[in-house]
Amino acid sequence: MKKGYFGPFGGSFIPEVLRETFRQLTLAYEEARADPAFWQAYLRMMENYSGRPTPLTFAENLSREFDGRRVYIKREDLNQTGAHKANNVMGQGLLVKRMGKKRVIAETGAGQHGMATATMAARLGLECVVYMGAEDVARQRPNVFWMEQLGTTVVPVTAGSQTLKDAINEAMRDWVASMDDTHYVLGTACGGHPFPEMVAWFQSIIGLEAKGQIMAQEGRLPDKVFACVGGGSNAMGIFSGFLEHPEVELIGVEAGGEGLQGDRHAARIASGRSAVGVTQGMKTYFLQDDDGQMKSTHSVAAGLDYVGVSPILADLHQQGRVRFEAALDTEVVAALKRLMKSEGLIAALESSHAVAQALKELPDMADDACIIINLSGRGDKDIFTVADALDDQAWRDFIMEKAAQYKVRQSG
Ligand SMILES: *Cc1c(COP(=O)(O)O)cnc(C)c1O
Repeated sequence: MKKGYFGPFGGSFIPEVLRETFRQLTLAYEEARADPAFWQAYLRMMENYSGRPTPLTFAENLSREFDGRRVYIKREDLNQTGAHKANNVMGQGLLVKRMGKKRVIAETGAGQHGMATATMAARLGLECVVYMGAEDVARQRPNVFWMEQLGTTVVPVTAGSQTLKDAINEAMRDWVASMDDTHYVLGTACGGHPFPEMVAWFQSIIGLEAKGQIMAQEGRLPDKVFACVGGGSNAMGIFSGFLEHPEVELIGVEAGGEGLQGDRHAARIASGRSAVGVTQGMKTYFLQDDDGQMKSTHSVAAGLDYVGVSPILADLHQQGRVRFEAALDTEVVAALKRLMKSEGLIAALESSHAVAQALKELPDMADDACIIINLSGRGDKDIFTVADALDDQAWRDFIMEKAAQYKVRQSG
């Protein structure tokens, strides 16, 4: 198979001027991957700085509520900055040091990837610039504040719709001018080769740990593994531990938003309504109209609100290895509440998609079934969105008043 392709998906569709930079990055990544000392250094850093290995928590109460079916939760919420994103940015940071570059750039929408990158840059002594749509800067004051305190320069992008896709364009413009000393820290398993493969490699630490942990704790492999899918990095991370075991069913859960009939969702694969296209460096499924224009997407979870999907997952779907489902915004908020009440875990709205799908399937599984849910991140960041969806009017009014002061991003 051609390098960087996963079945018919993937590739490296990038501007001519960036070709040499991508070639050098691919070389550095391949050398690092072939060097066991690099992975050892990565593991040591993640132990020392991000609390790895993260636990595989046995959900005792949920398991009892489902008549003894065994539910395990992989705790990526316990990472530095509260999500699996740390695995990727710290890995790329180490690679940047190895390449001898001094500066990193990134783009961010809701701010989570920007935050993770800003902490990595501070820790590893790299200059850092984060591009953010001006509209997102206004909605995300708390994240912008912390990024600046961490020493990162946040550049508001006033072009176009002033959101994520305009920030991506601006970051690319920076990279073309600065590639000699600058690395672009991509946030998920998307983009041109080597990014999908490289990001999935760093995230594979999740699956590696989870497989060892379930064998130690349960003495067997799980029947099903659930993960939410935005770009696809946390899903690829946990799935990679089980790909070679066909008896383990892998389920990717996309944002069903307000339903799959209209355009108020981000279910690229589960909706069956996207088409293969080439943009943002890769060939994969995109939600697009008949003229090939990218559609606008919606999710209650900002991290799943993305028009494309990892080419690696597109291929695993086509092979029939990963099953795709979608969870609705309302189901996701209900799942979040249930996990809080049953286990005392405040999951991110993104991760709650995986929880919602697991809750749907558990009643129909065998009595001795065993599952793993990947809890990609913690939910503190979602306080305003969740409060908005709450029935408790007094809390809702109080928290929404605070949200108005911050102009924090709301769903929709
Ligand atoms: C960013 C994010 C996601 C979506 O990204 P993937 O690349 O699909 O993993 C999921 N969960 C959390 C908590 C996130 O912050």
